[in-house]
Amino acid sequence: MASERSVDVLILGGGPAGSTAGAMLARAGIEAVIVEGERFPRFHVGESLLPHTVPLLDDLGIHEAVRALPHTRRKEGASFVTHDGSRHVAYWFAEAFPPAIPHAYQVRRDEFDACLLANASALGVEVLEGWKATAPIWEGRRLAGLRIEGQGGEERVLRARVVLDASGQVAFLANRMGWRFPYAMHRKVAAVSHFRDVWLPDGREAGNITIAVTDGGWFWLIPFADDTVSVGAVMDVARWRQAGTGPEALFSSSVSATPEVGRRLAGATRLLPFSSVQNFSYRVMRLAGDGYCLIGDAAGFLDPIFSTGVFVATTTAASAAEDIIDALGRHGRVDSGDFAPTVSVTRSLHRLFFSFIRAYYNPHFLAFFFNPSRGLQFPQAIVSLLAADVLGPGLFRKTSRFRSLLALAWMQELGSKVGRPLVAPLGATPGGPAT
Ligand SMILES: Cc1cc2nc3c(=O)[nH]c(=O)nc-3n(C[C@H](O)[C@H](O)[C@H](O)COP(=O)(O)OP(=O)(O)OC[C@H]3O[C@@H](n4cnc5c(N)ncnc54)[C@H](O)[C@@H]3O)c2cc1C
Repeated sequence: MASERSVDVLILGGGPAGSTAGAMLARAGIEAVIVEGERFPRFHVGESLLPHTVPLLDDLGIHEAVRALPHTRRKEGASFVTHDGSRHVAYWFAEAFPPAIPHAYQVRRDEFDACLLANASALGVEVLEGWKATAPIWEGRRLAGLRIEGQGGEERVLRARVVLDASGQVAFLANRMGWRFPYAMHRKVAAVSHFRDVWLPDGREAGNITIAVTDGGWFWLIPFADDTVSVGAVMDVARWRQAGTGPEALFSSSVSATPEVGRRLAGATRLLPFSSVQNFSYRVMRLAGDGYCLIGDAAGFLDPIFSTGVFVATTTAASAAEDIIDALGRHGRVDSGDFAPTVSVTRSLHRLFFSFIRAYYNPHFLAFFFNPSRGLQFPQAIVSLLAADVLGPGLFRKTSRFRSLLALAWMQELGSKVGRPLVAPLGATPGGPAT
């Protein structure tokens, strides 16, 4: 017979979303329990943070602790390079529309996530590591708790006034309830490992993430403080399946198609076995209901190209925590409508970032991306998006420049069809050969 207990807020998952929500709730004096299937520290992809994540680190009181982690490296911008190295552009966070936050960090996620979770625990959150949720407990339309299982197979029932699903790509509730829909046109796979002795640029660019465009996909190169580098190849799942190979072969064939990455990895040594993540792009139709809300990756994910994942995870988590604090204070329970602010912020972040990500897969947009015209404030508009300056006042002005760029990309496409492109097209693009 499973033991049973009741808590105020039950949080599923101790990643950035779960630990942020937990810390904020505990700080407000609300009982919160995090159920985490793994034992931290654990490996995770997603090591490049954006500038507008930094204020949240300040708010949580862990900015210094994150900065002091052994592998944390300051970055001042994001660099992009074409597959053969012939085109290169660096966007600097300091050049965003004001008020700019001029830097962010590369973090090793085993350290970063453990730091966030330890902070939640220090603030009073009870953390149950090594316990997996196995089933939701519904009472009518209200989610009343979760059934969980320990590593030795022991079962418990945790009842809660409210449940936050922060289970990441597992998307615990969305998968079980049929709310998760993969993007049919955007089925990607990533193969990743850490390396040493990768060629890194000098000077200000040394700490930047580099994104290398390749035919059918892209690479990331994320340097840490000790000059080890996370390198990941992102590719269409269909291509990978055609080749019928594992992550190592996927990575090698992508390197062969991307001479610039081959050059940077020529003298490098791999430090970890390859891991892969498949089909990470999906949307979730229902984000909240009576007694529950989905936050972070559990609420949907498109593509990591612009490193928006941790920003979205922590922003939606902070918003859900506020909704809970407000609702419990007002009427002692949390209903579907109480999560309206979080649902709205989640949807608008997805909408905005998705349009930016889709633009990146459009070769005509990319031609401008690698060749931004300074006179029209396009670099500032792009940097503001790359820095995740997407909440608060002035958003329309910032995104209107981005929308103008989309219009230019459309004109570039028309011009290319009649042999008169506005700017020089790129040789290889993430969606496939340039058209
Ligand atoms: C290839 C790739 C590259 C990426 N690169 C970046 C990047 O550079 N920068 C960036 O910001 N983002 C990046 N991301 C996205 C980023 O990793 C995620 O957005 C971020 O980790 C989301 O945080 P989260 O807390 O929602 O989920 P997670 O960090 O995944 O945490 C979820 C937690 O829930 C736990 N869990 C799941 N199911 C259960 C269960 N049933 N019971 C108990 N526990 C459970 C898991 O063990 C996990 O610890 C990348 C993603 C991919 C796929």
